[in-house]
Amino acid sequence: MIIKIGKANDNDYVVNDSHVSRHHAQLTRDVDGCLLLIDMDSANGTYVNGSRIAQKRVSPTDSVKLGDRYSLKLPEVLKSRNDYSEEFIALRGVYNKYIEQKVKIQSSNQFKTRVYQSLPFALTGLIGVSIGFMGKGNPVLWGVSLFVAVCAPVVGIYLGAKQSAKIPGQLQDLANRFKIDYVCPKCGTFLGEIPWESLINKKQCPVSSCKAKWVNE
Ligand SMILES: [Zn+2]
Repeated sequence: MIIKIGKANDNDYVVNDSHVSRHHAQLTRDVDGCLLLIDMDSANGTYVNGSRIAQKRVSPTDSVKLGDRYSLKLPEVLKSRNDYSEEFIALRGVYNKYIEQKVKIQSSNQFKTRVYQSLPFALTGLIGVSIGFMGKGNPVLWGVSLFVAVCAPVVGIYLGAKQSAKIPGQLQDLANRFKIDYVCPKCGTFLGEIPWESLINKKQCPVSSCKAKWVNE
């Protein structure tokens, strides 16, 4: 995040004061995430709580002056911020994780569904082999074998259907989380299932009241 402050129109926060330089100061974050105010070699200097600074960590409650008379309100400056490129980059991980988990749920369910569908058939085969070992002519074993053979497909279809019915629920939970996380960092609008690589080409939020910059050029 960099907020450029000064008299020139290409600043993020434009100040109309004759004692303020065209590119007077910048507000950014240091490595610890603290707000850092940097004087850009302005003619009349930048003051924090009465002392002239080259650069200084600040908090929104500090009293900041550009030159000797313009009082800069840091909370207002922060509100004017429109560079969301850092937060936008983090969305790449959110999207990739979502796709990865979606594929994982779908393929693991496909596998389980197949296992449940084929298990009863395997069981029938096993009983058939057992009967072969124990010798023919046992009506009880034969009856059991017939019963299992008839029931196996029904049980297989039932277990398979039950397993595949779990998919929508799991995918719904995943989609709900994704809707909360995959949003414009400024206005919070859900970005849809649009790949991050496509969004970065848009360079800014399409919501007309937002227009947050996603790519800092
Ligand atoms: Zn937005």
